[in-house]
Amino acid sequence: MAASEAEAFTYNGGIVEPGETQNVRYGISETYLGDPVRIPVTIVNGEHPGPTVFLSAAAHGDELNGIEVVREVAHEWNHDGLHGTIVCMPVLNVPGFLAQQRYLPIYDRDLNRSFPGRKGSTSAKRMADQIYRNFIEPCDIGIDFHTSTRGRTNMLHVRADMDDPEVSRLARAFGSHVIISSSGPSGTLRREASKAGTPTITIEMGEAHRFQRTFIDRALEGVMSAFAEYDLHPDAPVKWPGWRTVIDDEKKTWLRADVGGLVEMHYDRGSLVYEGTPICTITNPFKTESEAVEAPFTGLLVGILENPVVYPGNPICHIVELNADTRRALKRDRARSDHEDEVQPPGYLAGRESENGGR
Ligand SMILES: [Zn+2]
Repeated sequence: MAASEAEAFTYNGGIVEPGETQNVRYGISETYLGDPVRIPVTIVNGEHPGPTVFLSAAAHGDELNGIEVVREVAHEWNHDGLHGTIVCMPVLNVPGFLAQQRYLPIYDRDLNRSFPGRKGSTSAKRMADQIYRNFIEPCDIGIDFHTSTRGRTNMLHVRADMDDPEVSRLARAFGSHVIISSSGPSGTLRREASKAGTPTITIEMGEAHRFQRTFIDRALEGVMSAFAEYDLHPDAPVKWPGWRTVIDDEKKTWLRADVGGLVEMHYDRGSLVYEGTPICTITNPFKTESEAVEAPFTGLLVGILENPVVYPGNPICHIVELNADTRRALKRDRARSDHEDEVQPPGYLAGRESENGGR
């Protein structure tokens, strides 16, 4: 991956030399008034040779936590001694971001189903094409940040195709407790980039429309750990999260409401629940009828409903199975650190310490 000498990063119309940082507003489309739609991009090219990494956020315009992660890496971290190049794109879906909505406002297209994009195609695919060709394709690896859909919340987890050894390496390097393995839907940035030779993972964390400091700090630790794994910042240690589970399709499920009503959740996101435990109760307006939704197996609530109203068929929570060994490790870890959402002060600011050494 690393050349013997640091190389310039080039995109259509620009060049960033080794040792140089550029803030660019790059035009990917035009508005109804003919003004440019431009994404902010910061390219940090280190003096030393190394891999080229992209960090992206807000492919869904209302998913904000990742924006702050990408901006802090770009503008608050000290990249003296950086080996390689970091391409930071805090807001991919600019029209959606301006409207504070998930989809592109133009025919409600999903930018994150439009990659790698295509010239001469729909507006969404043309935007995706501009982003992809200039800033994704030249990269060796990538991390794309998301949150839960509006009205729900996620614990921090990685989504990655663990059958692909290079993607798996990056996913593990991020140091999350939970990795959900799948190749991802067609047209998603991580699937299409990974397929085309840029191993890419998605980070899911928290809710839409928020900056949630705890998640942002934890994700920054993950980015630093990934940078350590690929020797971008060779002195930083790779993080071992204390416990970890890799989940495939058979070991996870969305529990859905079978009745309409108002939902009282009995557990927070990140909770360990045992088979048969009522996770929530759905009641009618008179509280005369209620239906308990029980855990179908013992596992972890990775995502839960925040907006407490459901039609039959609406998702209530995303539960992943945990085996006995992982449960024991989780309990030991939480006994030490109190709760899933409590984090240590971000290590990249102080001297980072590896918790356990090995992985
Ligand atoms: Zn998303």
